[in-house]
Amino acid sequence: MMQQYLRIKADYPDMLLFYRMGDFYELFFEDAELGSRLLGITLTQRGSSAGTPIKMAGVPFHSADQYLTKMVKLGQSVVIVDQVGEVTGKGPVERKVTRIITPGTLTDETLLNDKEDNQILAIYQKNNQCGLAWISLSGGSFLISECVASDLQNQIERIRPAEIIASENLIKQLKIIRPNLAYKIIPEWHFEYDLNLRRLCEHFLVNDLDGFGISHYHQAIISAGIILDYAKQTQNNQLPHINSVIYDNQNDYLILDAISRKNLEISETIRGEKAPTLFSVMDQCASTMGSRLLDKWLNNPLRDHKEIRARQEAVKVLQENYNQIHGVLKQVSDIERISSRIGLRTARPRDLSGLRDSLQLIPQLGFIREYCSISLIAEIYAKFSEVSQEIYSYLLAAIKPEPKLLIREGDVINEGYNPELDRLRSINTDGSQFILELEAKERERTGIANLKVEYNRVHGYFIEISRSNLDKAPVEYRRTQTLKNAERFTTPELKSFENEVLAANDKALALEKKIYEEILDFLNQHLSQLQQLADAIATLDVLASFAKVSLLGNYCCPELINHHQIRIDDGRHPVVEKQIDQFIANSINVDDTSKFLMITGPNMGGKSTYMRQVAIICLLAHCGCYVPATKAVIGVIDRIFTRIGASDDLSGGKSTFMVEMSETANILNNATSQSLVIMDEVGRGTSTFDGLALAYAIARYLIEKCAAYSLFATHYFELTDLANHYAKVANVHLSAVEHKDQIVFMHHVESGPAAKSYGIQVASLAGVPKPVLATAKKYLQHLEDGSEKQAKLDLFSIDAALTDEYPSSLSPNEEAVLSKLRQVDPNDLTAKQALDLLYELQQKLR
Ligand code: ADP
Repeated sequence: MMQQYLRIKADYPDMLLFYRMGDFYELFFEDAELGSRLLGITLTQRGSSAGTPIKMAGVPFHSADQYLTKMVKLGQSVVIVDQVGEVTGKGPVERKVTRIITPGTLTDETLLNDKEDNQILAIYQKNNQCGLAWISLSGGSFLISECVASDLQNQIERIRPAEIIASENLIKQLKIIRPNLAYKIIPEWHFEYDLNLRRLCEHFLVNDLDGFGISHYHQAIISAGIILDYAKQTQNNQLPHINSVIYDNQNDYLILDAISRKNLEISETIRGEKAPTLFSVMDQCASTMGSRLLDKWLNNPLRDHKEIRARQEAVKVLQENYNQIHGVLKQVSDIERISSRIGLRTARPRDLSGLRDSLQLIPQLGFIREYCSISLIAEIYAKFSEVSQEIYSYLLAAIKPEPKLLIREGDVINEGYNPELDRLRSINTDGSQFILELEAKERERTGIANLKVEYNRVHGYFIEISRSNLDKAPVEYRRTQTLKNAERFTTPELKSFENEVLAANDKALALEKKIYEEILDFLNQHLSQLQQLADAIATLDVLASFAKVSLLGNYCCPELINHHQIRIDDGRHPVVEKQIDQFIANSINVDDTSKFLMITGPNMGGKSTYMRQVAIICLLAHCGCYVPATKAVIGVIDRIFTRIGASDDLSGGKSTFMVEMSETANILNNATSQSLVIMDEVGRGTSTFDGLALAYAIARYLIEKCAAYSLFATHYFELTDLANHYAKVANVHLSAVEHKDQIVFMHHVESGPAAKSYGIQVASLAGVPKPVLATAKKYLQHLEDGSEKQAKLDLFSIDAALTDEYPSSLSPNEEAVLSKLRQVDPNDLTAKQALDLLYELQQKLR
């Protein structure tokens, strides 16, 4: 057996091998050590190999899924080896690899996240050019693209694969940027054009790829062949559901670089959590297919105004009846994933009954026909009606209303579907009649009134007689079992009946399996129709979800125009407004005459919320959704750039300031007059003068060279002066008022620069000790008085040096309370006096 194990394991050196032994999956040697560490299972030893004990760790076969889920979450790939032969007693049972589970090629329902598409990406890089190909096995999509090497990280962030396959060299580089992803190394020589072109042509049964319009993307074709081959190997299947390959043209989408995706918290918060995000707020979808498509849409905003308008039109009409649509879609199964499992031939009986019940519901959505003047709805409706009733009727006839979970349990194929199956089953059913008759006959013959003929799984059929009647048992009864109060017997007649029933059962099960395979064959012929249906359902679901959010959230339909302008009246941040009680709406209006907003105001004033809200509204508008504002006019935008906050990228070996500058460099090198640029406090990672000088130069470059729509938040008041030199620059600030030494944020954007930065007041809110605040105030006063004259200040020349006693920051009443407290001796006070004193002190403080 160990030889068999080692033979199989040799093919999968970098994967954990789960080796089926009876009711367990066992791991051996290093796999056992790693498995026991990752899964927290016991490591044991047995026998020996080459003189050393064999390390083992096992998990029960029936609960293997939970361990597999854990493995996959940890980015580990697993090979499942099952027993496929009969146990003969001679030599080990034949075993085979039945599944390879890798993070990017999951298709099992239990291992997949409902709301996320699981994709695997292959990358081939040659010189400065990269070919990309990615497949969603559970969703049935296959896309390719090409990009320059410097854009690779942005593309990975857009595609968000669960696993990447590439050459060893490239993976080494990628691991620096994305250490936590699963990677699979493919030898360099596999990345060969002819080989991979052939793989694709053979898969799609074509002579060349002209029909897909992708023939000239040589690098992407190489990646596509590699990924298809890898996916086939893991599934042990020809993947009939992957029936087309599409070139994903980046120019179709508004470009968001990796950093901006993160900053705008589209599908993940900056800390990597799933909520609250733009997706979590927008996701009102009724089906998981819809949620996954929504995620895709939000991450791939469109550029073509025509396509966006098509979505807007649909959202408009669906506001009338999104409830009705969601009511139906709530009950629909995940047809997209079921179709994939049909293609992979791993669909379970409940998948098919779910599909059948969903198909029955589709006609209830027929009412959308009245909106067929809207092009997108007409497309959806066409896909609904194309799904022939044939599939539904077929499944209705073939599958039991509530089939068993697994085909090997039987009771899946409907009565009346196959005469032979019915006959075999009736042997069992008629058997009950036979038992009743036999029981009556034997009771009469033996005169034992409570004689029973029964069945259990261990002993089969038996006659049971209570101990008190044993003397009446006929001699031909053969004893099989003795219980406390009864004995059990069999007879030749009963035995032969049992054999007949068992044989019929086995035959019925085998026949059910065969019929099930035929059903899968039939469904496979209609696979693309089912995939189209899934796509139509998902699209309708997202549009209805947009309609719901827009209506309930008071969103407006943005107007898309062809010249340079972003105008948003009373805009809100869709995520932040859900988090707080009263969100203050703010407007913006930038165009060619005023394209650069210099934003000042205190920390916590709302600068970054305001800037992000503008970016998110532009993004939502490009997804075809309505936006949280009373009016929005949005011109042509090609990219959104953001440089917000500062975080160390220690794994990448960059300091905060270095990260800040490389992000800035990316923006300055790529922003165009159609880009929306958001810059939050650039330059703060270095000394004041350096930072100011850089911020000034960066701002000028954005104004003069890029001419991008820019929102530039800063604490350097000196920069507000730019408005005096450039007509295009406008100053705005987030207002705040001081009240009794406290600061109150108004969160309202007003024109002109802020008067003060209120740093000390904000520090006070944060709980910085009062003496520190008082000292800081004093320093500040001094700095403000002298800043005009001195280039470098000598802080220690100031009156209140740190060693000085801190000036008191208490009010006179507070001082009085303290001094009173210091004076009293509690031992001198009666209880009544003490209470009175307490009242008095408190009164004073109020
Ligand atoms: P800044 O970037 O100026 O430091 P933020 O944008 O981070 O400030 O906002 C700080 C907090 O103020 C936010 O977490 C939010 O709770 C609140 N806030 C921001 N903008 C608004 C608004 N328009 N209305 C209400 N509260 C807001």
